[in-house]
Amino acid sequence: MAKSNKKKRMKQTHQAKKAENAANKANKAPGGQELPVEVGQIVDVDITGLTHEGAGVGRFEGYTLFIPQALAGERVRAQVEHVKKKYGFARLLKIVKRAEHRTKPPCPVFDRCGGCSLQHLAYEEQLRHKRQIVIDNLERIGGFAVADDGTTGHGLVVHPTIGMNDPWRYRNKAQVPIGEQDGGLVGGFYAERSHTIIDIDRCLIQHEASDAVVAVVKRLAGRLGIQPYDEVRHTGLLRHVVTKVGVRTGEIMVVLITTETFIPNRDLLIEAIRREVPGVTSIVQNINPRRTNVIFGDQTYTLWGNDVIYDYIGPIKFAISARSFYQVNPLQTEVLYNKTLEYAGLTGSETVIDAYCGIGTISLFLARKAGRVYGVEIVPEAIRDARKNAELNGLSNVTFEAGAAEEVIPAWKEQGISPDVIVVDPPRKGCDEALLTTILQMRPQRVVYVSCNPSTLARDLKVLADGYVIKEVQPVDMFPHTGHVECVILMVRKGA
Ligand code: SAH
Repeated sequence: MAKSNKKKRMKQTHQAKKAENAANKANKAPGGQELPVEVGQIVDVDITGLTHEGAGVGRFEGYTLFIPQALAGERVRAQVEHVKKKYGFARLLKIVKRAEHRTKPPCPVFDRCGGCSLQHLAYEEQLRHKRQIVIDNLERIGGFAVADDGTTGHGLVVHPTIGMNDPWRYRNKAQVPIGEQDGGLVGGFYAERSHTIIDIDRCLIQHEASDAVVAVVKRLAGRLGIQPYDEVRHTGLLRHVVTKVGVRTGEIMVVLITTETFIPNRDLLIEAIRREVPGVTSIVQNINPRRTNVIFGDQTYTLWGNDVIYDYIGPIKFAISARSFYQVNPLQTEVLYNKTLEYAGLTGSETVIDAYCGIGTISLFLARKAGRVYGVEIVPEAIRDARKNAELNGLSNVTFEAGAAEEVIPAWKEQGISPDVIVVDPPRKGCDEALLTTILQMRPQRVVYVSCNPSTLARDLKVLADGYVIKEVQPVDMFPHTGHVECVILMVRKGA
């Protein structure tokens, strides 16, 4: 049943594609409307903006074109590749007039990877761009007036983005797919929108340890008889190499993800990794026998060393296992949480709710300065980690509960829990409407919103503005060279 539905869907998509292609050939949008451009046409376009994915936006005879790698202020020549009714996509051929902020991307595979969409924009300018994205969303979706100088005047204050002093090598976790090409073992990343592995020796946003671990594996696996996984034929052994680094402790975990338990010459591989990558304190195997692009399987064994590595965010210590979630840029996470702490305005006695608490990072960070903290998170394993981390840090004034924030928090309200501060850190889709309603009913003095998506943020702030004054917005650059924008917002109850 499910299968035939899938077939039907595939057929429908296929037909839709065919119609779209036919429309493209006839220089019409799917639906029949005439367009000023056709696929294959070469056009000169002035770029007026950047999307949050980092693509340049320009117009050709009023028709919007998205052109990856083109920058605002540039005039470019581009070839139209794909058209839709209201907009199309084109490939950059030549920069006719260059933006002064354009810089040479240091990564040799910048064009093909798609992981870093902004490496061609000077870092200072990336920070300015990210702030602008937040402002645009607050104005367009939220309907807020933003003070134009960012610090004074009327309207809400959006501070300059806090960037990194050294915006390279910041990631502490790499998940590198392994495969075979021309008889040799390759490892790197999947080319954009594909499952072809592009072999690389280094990734400039990853910790150096990841490059070093992958290099050892690539060099030795063949000699040791360890076959790379073949995704199409579902054969071979080694699927992924995952590296996790405790940036503050220097501890490194290596996870070998394999299709089965037996690894030929396993001990020789372990020895080589330990010898060549000082700092490795844990080597773990995870077994994933399934035909899937989910990376991890269900069984995890420690092959050598410890089951976990440790790291710190500020004064809080975290245990990180092969499967547990942990922030990927711990330096900037500390900046973000310090801002959260500042905005929470704690004096030591407050009751705080941390909604969408994950492994309790924010809860524990705030617990030192609060009376009591309640954390809620939907993934039960994360709540288990959160409790362990509370114990690890000797923090006993924190209560964690697994469940949906929009259900657990109303239940807390019924039990008479009355927070002074509510912190929310939702996933990209933002807060559940029911949670926003509950916040408005609970009327905490302050609400601190930590957001990874400015558009859902703006939507949610519009709802909260009913009972709260939005005071300050602080963008923090957690993911330099990518389009992601994170920010933290202080809201104070009206009349408080
Ligand atoms: N505050 C954490 C994690 C934030 S990511 C940190 O800083 O590390 C958002 C989290 O929300 C994820 O852990 C996700 O599992 C969780 N989540 C998603 N939907 C949820 C819901 N309806 N209720 C509670 N948690 C949810």
